[in-house]
Amino acid sequence: MSERTIAAIATSIGSASIGVIRISGDKAIDIADKIFFPFSGGKLCELEGYRAAYGEIRDNGTVLDDAVALVFRAPKSYTGEDVVEISVHGGTLMLRSVLRLTLANGAYPAEGGEFTKRAFLNGKTDLTRAESIMGLISAKSEAELKLSRAAHTGRLSLKLSEIESSLKEAAASIEAFADYPDEDIDGLSIENFSKMLSNAEFSLNEMLRTYDAGKVIREGIDTVIVGKPNVGKSTLMNLLSGTEKSIVTDIAGTTRDVIEETVTAGDITLRLSDTAGIHEASDEVERLGVERAKDRIETASLILAVFDSSAPLDDDDYALIESVKGFNTIFIINKSDIGKGFDASAFKGMRTVTVSAKSGDGYNELVKQIAEITGTANLDPDSAVLFGERQRACAARACEAVREAKNALLNGYTLDAVGVCVDDALSALYELTGKRVTNEVTDEIFRRFCVGK
Ligand code: GDP
Repeated sequence: MSERTIAAIATSIGSASIGVIRISGDKAIDIADKIFFPFSGGKLCELEGYRAAYGEIRDNGTVLDDAVALVFRAPKSYTGEDVVEISVHGGTLMLRSVLRLTLANGAYPAEGGEFTKRAFLNGKTDLTRAESIMGLISAKSEAELKLSRAAHTGRLSLKLSEIESSLKEAAASIEAFADYPDEDIDGLSIENFSKMLSNAEFSLNEMLRTYDAGKVIREGIDTVIVGKPNVGKSTLMNLLSGTEKSIVTDIAGTTRDVIEETVTAGDITLRLSDTAGIHEASDEVERLGVERAKDRIETASLILAVFDSSAPLDDDDYALIESVKGFNTIFIINKSDIGKGFDASAFKGMRTVTVSAKSGDGYNELVKQIAEITGTANLDPDSAVLFGERQRACAARACEAVREAKNALLNGYTLDAVGVCVDDALSALYELTGKRVTNEVTDEIFRRFCVGK
């Protein structure tokens, strides 16, 4: 337990009916008793955990507000320490004055994420669950919220502890087998070790496979809309965003530069750019826009390539088809309302969607195609999904080490060598869950949290 008792405003700053000041540490209840006075008489230190009192906040005899104080006793609290949460009226000034009062009475201002860091250090949560809290707070879609909730309720921790157990069993068996190679011990065979390792590898691969889709749900996907002038890029962007942000006009080449905005397609946030068309630009301003569009094809993770089905494809269209080949592209055949008899054979074997950006026809199919191409269509948000690059890198290291262990086994290396690889895999898993992690890594993780969490 840390010797410093910390305090912070735990709710967001602004006008709200209620705001909460959280105090955690050895002196939390003492400090609260100096500023909070229950109407029923008595003191908070007389209360058991999970009890609340209604009273008032006083600063040197001046009443600041009436309030409710909730007492948690260590270890049964968020941080594992004694905690008092004081709910007052939620104005910014009010919250700041009550916080100042706690500091004047011996509390230290909490650093970003310090409450959750203490919860982790006191064994109340592992790192994967702690990291999911950020997702819970910042979720922008139902799917993102579900993903974070699954991690927070321990889906990921459970899956990781299953992998850990099977690796530990493999390590123990390998050791026993190495010590008594001539004994016929039940279940100890090279085939069995190999099976245990394959199972662990499968589970880790499964997690790594869903990482990208989880990331798309959490962070959105960098998307670019390309197509020659007048095919309906701006209209499509407006359909997706439901606003009139892009300039829509009949004059070819009006959308001259890259306009960026964020829209939601089903569960997915698209970080969109509407660009000047991919075509031979005739003037300088437009040339710059076109160059940037070409750059964006290289860097974007999803390309929506738009074509006008009311006219036959021309050289610019064919050039575009060529330039986006090999990238994650959806070919959008637009203007379906007037594009009768369009020959779509140039798109054979490609992912196409026929839409009318103007009327909205085909929108649902487009959303479905986006979910499929990004892998989110098959992602079960209730499953164990890795959160963030740190977790992915640890899981990838564990997976690689398991693969090496398997190869070492197959290639007849000594069992000691196999054991070393299994230990490496376990270390990577321990780092992922926080069982064995350096202070620097822990600090780095919690620094990203907001104050009060
Ligand atoms: P951009 O240059 O590719 O951004 O094209 P715009 O979005 O500015 O559209 C060019 C013209 O095509 C405008 O007059 C739009 O109203 C029209 N347009 C765009 N999409 C459709 C569509 O689905 N159907 C019809 N009939 N017209 C469309």
